Amino acid sequence: MKEKIITKKILKWYDLNKRSLPWRKEVSLQKKQYYTLISEFMLQQTQVTTVIPFFNRFLKNLPTIKSLAKVDEGKLIKLWEGLGYYSRARNLKKTAQIIIKNFDGKLPNNLRDLLTLPGIGNYTANAILAIAFNKPYIPLDGNIERVLKRYLYLKKDKEIQKDNLVQKKNIFGTTLRSGDYAQALMELGALICKQSNPICVQCPIRKNCKSFKKKDFTLKKNIKKNKEKYFILKVYKKRQRYLLIKNTKFNFLKNLSIFPMEELSNPKNFNENLNFKMSNMNMNIKIQYLKDNKKFTSSYWVDKKKLDSYMLPSFTKKIVRYLEKN
Ligand code: SF4
Repeated sequence: MKEKIITKKILKWYDLNKRSLPWRKEVSLQKKQYYTLISEFMLQQTQVTTVIPFFNRFLKNLPTIKSLAKVDEGKLIKLWEGLGYYSRARNLKKTAQIIIKNFDGKLPNNLRDLLTLPGIGNYTANAILAIAFNKPYIPLDGNIERVLKRYLYLKKDKEIQKDNLVQKKNIFGTTLRSGDYAQALMELGALICKQSNPICVQCPIRKNCKSFKKKDFTLKKNIKKNKEKYFILKVYKKRQRYLLIKNTKFNFLKNLSIFPMEELSNPKNFNENLNFKMSNMNMNIKIQYLKDNKKFTSSYWVDKKKLDSYMLPSFTKKIVRYLEKN
């Protein structure tokens, strides 16, 4: 296979500049596949530097796919606490169970089977095939998209549509080192072709980069608007303790402990106390202090001084902190 010049340049840059990350360690093939599965789930919504300590702790506690398939929910959520988007953790466990049951404990090495697993979409499947199996796939993450848009100077709405970017990524070419190459492209975006202030002087492909030639590095984004949502959050307080419930009602933070909440549709004159961004929504939250100790199913009291000893999502902890300050 003859590599394109651009491919050679990017790989050479990667060999000299790649970060040492725990999931990039030289390990057996089986471990490599497990490491890739865990890291790709964690990296779905979270940055590399944040993921590192979580990845290390996760692997220490659940070193194999079997241990992950058998872990109890409490321990799993505790290990994920702080990473957010808890559905990823649950999907990861379900995926491990399906791999044990249907794939003889081995991560599938083809797109069709990977896409049947919970929590694995097109991007993650492409990343797994490239990194864990060295297959010629290029996962189009935010970093690679940015390099592509700048290198080709893609600005028009039509040009930055996902379908077009998927076609255009072929300009990066192929190599026998597919796993390294996928990571090299991501790394180039993360370290050099950064969102603001790209470091073009260190970029191995600047010679033919159209944005570099035009000295215009602005990026056009496909704007996805978050949905505005409105909630009344009910606070019941007894001495040092707050009442929480197990969330079976909302799709976010499913089965986790939250304050009792009620969603309102298009309220008038809603004066929120708090705003949160979660998944694809802007949460506008109004706090209501209540005295009646209304009975909720699956409710319990948490002591505000012992917050860290409970298995709580950061969302709930932040609200307790807010309540304590105000
Ligand atoms: S030359 Fe600059 S803008 Fe072009 S790909 Fe490299 S870092 Fe990005």
